Amino acid sequence: MKIFLHHTIVALAILPGLLISNPSSAADNFVFWPDANYDPAIPTIESVLGHQPGERITWHAEAIRYFEALAEAAPDRISVAPYAQSWEGRELVYAVVTSAENMRRIDEIKANMQRLADPRGTPRSEAQRIINTQPAVTWLSYGVHGNEISSTEAAMLTAYHLLASRGDERVARIMRDTVVVIDPVQNPDGRDRFIHHFEIAEGLLPDDDRVSAEHNEPWPGGRTNHYFFDLNRDWFIQTQPETQGRVELIQQWYPVAFVDAHEMGSDSTYFFAPGATPYNPHLASNQRESLEIFGRNNAHWFDTFGLDYYTREVFDEFYPGYGASWPSYFGSISMTYEQASARGLLVRQYDGNVLTYPYTIRNHFVTSISTAEAVAVNRQKFLDDFYDYRASAIEEGKKDNIRSYVLPTQPDQAAANKLVGLLVRQGVEAGRANSSFEACGKSYEVGSYVINTAQPAKRLIRTLMDTNVPMEEEFITEQERRRAKNLRDEIYDVTAWSLPLMMNVRADSCNRNISGNFTAKGTELLQAGKVSGVSDAVAYLVPWGSATAVRFLTNALRQGIELKSSDKAFTHSGRRYPAGTLIVDVADNSDALLENISGLAAATGADVVAVDSSWVTDGPNFGSENVVRFTQPRVAIAWDQPTSSYSAGNTRFVIERQFDFPVTAIRINQLKRADLSRYQVLILPAVGWSGNYEEALGEKGTANLKDWVTKGGVLIGLGNANRYLANPEIDLLSIRRENAVIEVDKEKVKANGDGNDNGKKPKETTVEGQYLTSSDDYKALITPEKDNPDSVAGVLVNSNVDPDHWLGAGVAPTLNVLVRGSDIYTPVKMNKGVNVAVFAAADNLLASGYIWEQNRKQLAYKPFVVAQRSGRGYVIGFTQDPTVRAYLDGLNVIFMNAILRGSAHARPVR
Ligand SMILES: [Zn+2]
Repeated sequence: MKIFLHHTIVALAILPGLLISNPSSAADNFVFWPDANYDPAIPTIESVLGHQPGERITWHAEAIRYFEALAEAAPDRISVAPYAQSWEGRELVYAVVTSAENMRRIDEIKANMQRLADPRGTPRSEAQRIINTQPAVTWLSYGVHGNEISSTEAAMLTAYHLLASRGDERVARIMRDTVVVIDPVQNPDGRDRFIHHFEIAEGLLPDDDRVSAEHNEPWPGGRTNHYFFDLNRDWFIQTQPETQGRVELIQQWYPVAFVDAHEMGSDSTYFFAPGATPYNPHLASNQRESLEIFGRNNAHWFDTFGLDYYTREVFDEFYPGYGASWPSYFGSISMTYEQASARGLLVRQYDGNVLTYPYTIRNHFVTSISTAEAVAVNRQKFLDDFYDYRASAIEEGKKDNIRSYVLPTQPDQAAANKLVGLLVRQGVEAGRANSSFEACGKSYEVGSYVINTAQPAKRLIRTLMDTNVPMEEEFITEQERRRAKNLRDEIYDVTAWSLPLMMNVRADSCNRNISGNFTAKGTELLQAGKVSGVSDAVAYLVPWGSATAVRFLTNALRQGIELKSSDKAFTHSGRRYPAGTLIVDVADNSDALLENISGLAAATGADVVAVDSSWVTDGPNFGSENVVRFTQPRVAIAWDQPTSSYSAGNTRFVIERQFDFPVTAIRINQLKRADLSRYQVLILPAVGWSGNYEEALGEKGTANLKDWVTKGGVLIGLGNANRYLANPEIDLLSIRRENAVIEVDKEKVKANGDGNDNGKKPKETTVEGQYLTSSDDYKALITPEKDNPDSVAGVLVNSNVDPDHWLGAGVAPTLNVLVRGSDIYTPVKMNKGVNVAVFAAADNLLASGYIWEQNRKQLAYKPFVVAQRSGRGYVIGFTQDPTVRAYLDGLNVIFMNAILRGSAHARPVR
């Protein structure tokens, strides 16, 4: 009986394999590396996991199990260790593979790289001595996008091949002259999400038809992590635990080469370095040249195996938040490799060719070995280059026009603290002033930060701190040429990411290196707040306007503390408090209030002032009608199609993880009919690639939302969700989306029509002939009567805030907004609502990045934030998404005002 049971379990365990048993399984007899002679003492993937490479898609836990089996079999040559944990509790691990001889002194090898990384303590002669016997580190990263599946299998094969190959000179050299670090699953939550949905959809045979369910991931797909972040945009802002662990780890090793292995569309081939223009001007020229070394070696192997590939046409590394760019700023040569995806076990390409999973794995495996080989062959050069990169950075920092950044003490000091802590986590050295000082003709107080650029991290400092990082002139000219012809631009991501602008932190640049009495800033992002003032308080005040004050409010609400806030600024005991300042009355709260408030101040970083009188000398008293009482709002967010998973997930992250406040995700289908009366706030995230709210919600859903708002709900639309709110048929907001301005002769364009007859049948089958006597005539003829403004890749623009509205309370007078896409809206009329934040005049609009001239002119004075009363509730529109990548910290106060102050201002029947 027991035996029978045992067999049953075994049969069940292998059921998935049986389900898709394929007599001509592509994995059978697939040769990954011809003529390889493998040591049977090293466990194969099949012996540990029960499937051959490419026969199944390997789950994260299985991949880890395989690496652990390798470590058990060959502990002298491979070590495996964790470096982070995902939101869903999965462990991120990395493997170090090298010869037994290197492994015995692995700590020394690591320490040597750290010494090479700082030429100030390691003179060139000493560096040469180290380099003579130092293996170079190659870093191979796989699966940052969870639905780009083949690379994790390639990671396992790479480790196996390096450990098990016998009599292979190439492998022996890699093991002797390099250390290979393998990061097999950078995004385990995303990978397992993909596999789960894939396996649910599987049938008797793997299906190569891409309309089949197994090739169509349901929302949100497996690309992103738990909060739907693209981890391949997170490297310098490090909002996610996966990235935080990785960034800390990689700076212990300083690899000379870094590969991020991806997948791309199924109809493609394979892409490797060198990448496309534009190049970031802060990269060293020999880094560009070295890309070619890897490209040529990969090309050699692809020719040997008869594989197609391409280089240069796409995938630039201009934006510093990619895996293929961020490591460049400490001196690595970083690259993206892209394999056409099978998005399953096989897929039919446009020309009828069937792309199999083993084939895609093999290609990433080949470039992995090829990359390690290129590092082994060029070991000395790459180590020399690395040392030179760090040394030349210091020298450049002594001569550049910007030789230091100074962050003075400022209204939102918490933001400045966070910004500098974030830089320190990336290897930047920064000092906090212990005494006041002067620099470049300005005086700075104790507590100001100084970052001199004469340090190894100089190029990272410049690319993250400079107001603008220009693209090559030639590249821009080409993009303008393309745009004039209505061709898509080739800008891959945003063109602006300046940290001081995004975090609304004042940072002065100076053309001197600054010396003085400074204490090195540590990696902490937050300083504990404290309670100051009197001991016999009648109230506690928390000045509004920073993330720390917002966190104080959300945590206090969750603890049941009674709070109020003033819509107007006031003066108390000679100190001016900004609008929005929190007021905690002792009389309203329990005896434990001081203890609770002290704990909150320490945990949230907010500074609290205890006052012994409610008497203000200017502005509203604490019992004024301009002071509103908070309730703890229940916050909901629309989830699932048609929302953009990025917008939905990143917004939820900002509220939950940056402000500790829970959010209920409600699927669109539920929103159609659900009783929303439990919720005070509902957020409509931006819309994704397909679908729209009009259709998804239908008439019933829209009626449900309207009813809820008029009864006192606060409806907040983000980015292009405002297309729905502003749709005249919906009319939840009275703003309207604008067409592009027609710049050629309008009359002629009108006369010619735009070929779009709005559904009416044309009366004639032919049109009147005409002479075109100039190129302007021709342009008028081909210009549509109605078109969207051109899409902007991503720029930071200035917007001005109305301080009189409660939504602008405590908010900085000018905000930097990331503008992307083509949406531009008319301002709301004064009798309908308030334009709480409006984009600046055209001449003053652009803060950073590259914007099309027409968009610059058309965005001027158009709304960024509008608020409109509707019955007892509010509709609030943010025409650009304030929570993008959770990295626009400067917009957090106005965004959280919409949620927390919005629900305090709505008037539901209670
Ligand atoms: Zn990718």
